[in-house]
Amino acid sequence: MTAAETVRSHLARIERAAISMRQKALRGCVVADLTFMEICGTHTTTAFRTGLHSLLPTHIKLLSGPGCPVCVTAQPDIDQLINLAKTPNLTICTYGDLLRLPGNGGSLENARSKGADIQIIYSPLDALALAKKQPQREFIFAAVGFETTAPATAAAILEAQALNLKNFSVLNTHKRVIPALSALLASNDLQLDGLICPGHVAAIIGCKPFRSLAKTHKIPCVITGFEQTHMSHALAILAELTANQSHQLSNAYPEAVPETGNPTALALIDEVFQPSTTNCRALGPIPHSGLQIRTHLATYDATKKLNLPTLPDRSIPGCLCHKVILATATPPDCTLFAKACTPIHPIGPCMVSSEGTCSAHFKYNRNHIDRSNPASRGVSQKEAVLA
Ligand code: SF4
Repeated sequence: MTAAETVRSHLARIERAAISMRQKALRGCVVADLTFMEICGTHTTTAFRTGLHSLLPTHIKLLSGPGCPVCVTAQPDIDQLINLAKTPNLTICTYGDLLRLPGNGGSLENARSKGADIQIIYSPLDALALAKKQPQREFIFAAVGFETTAPATAAAILEAQALNLKNFSVLNTHKRVIPALSALLASNDLQLDGLICPGHVAAIIGCKPFRSLAKTHKIPCVITGFEQTHMSHALAILAELTANQSHQLSNAYPEAVPETGNPTALALIDEVFQPSTTNCRALGPIPHSGLQIRTHLATYDATKKLNLPTLPDRSIPGCLCHKVILATATPPDCTLFAKACTPIHPIGPCMVSSEGTCSAHFKYNRNHIDRSNPASRGVSQKEAVLA
């Protein structure tokens, strides 16, 4: 079967489940309108890129949730990173998607243009290699992400300890998915009928935590991969589970997600981190949602090593990212969307990250284009002049 045929067969299953829901709704058993949410930024991008929303029956809505790691990083943590970058004799090592993240004092990109040393890396081990080469200089790795990226950070910290490296530490904002999702589901703002859960996080933590989440919040959940066929399959399962009023977890990605997760990665996380309360953009402080570096490794925790101050939470004027992340607003609800805020000139984190909802909306939902405004067309001023 081709990918298109596979998607079509999934859509037919969704339609059949939707008809069953409508019949039950007519009998007053259930409501017929369904709202599902994909909680991972990679799923958001796939859904927008492949036009999945437009293929669904009109009374099935697919919302984008808080799973983009850059987007949920709290503003004070971003400000901390950008302030730190301005410190002399210090190098920030970061993944590329943090470079243009706007803070209250500019961005890392701005800081670099003024002489700050910012190194783009592909793995925390690259930061270790740089630190080994220049022992007189301090290297800070900016660690963001959920359980998918935390094991690599943990491995780097243990390697730094083994090498007795004194000039390497981590500005750590790692988060745990399940407590963040629990906080989202406990908020009264949304009535969700099902969740599409990220296969890469589940590959690390396993099915059990997602199963508990489904049971506790009485919501069907489907773990799946990142192709359109995976997502349409997950939606078909969700529609069928909902039609059968079943609140269970289905693992639709068994080729990558074992029931118990990845024991090596989990052991690394447990050796280096402990659960802590952390601040998530839009969701605020959430107990057990953070991964704090354990006390005996505090010398690799940049916040403690450099005695960094706690910064105030100063939101970006006009930016609705805090609502977009929770799906209580869409990108076009923001007056800055595709006008002052574009991928070339991002104002909020949801436009910076390629996995952010505003960025996906901008790239793949072209109704917003203002032909008279080059920035709105996604071209730079320079390109517009040369065109
Ligand atoms: Fe924030 Fe820009 Fe999205 Fe508005 S369009 S919510 S400013 S990222």
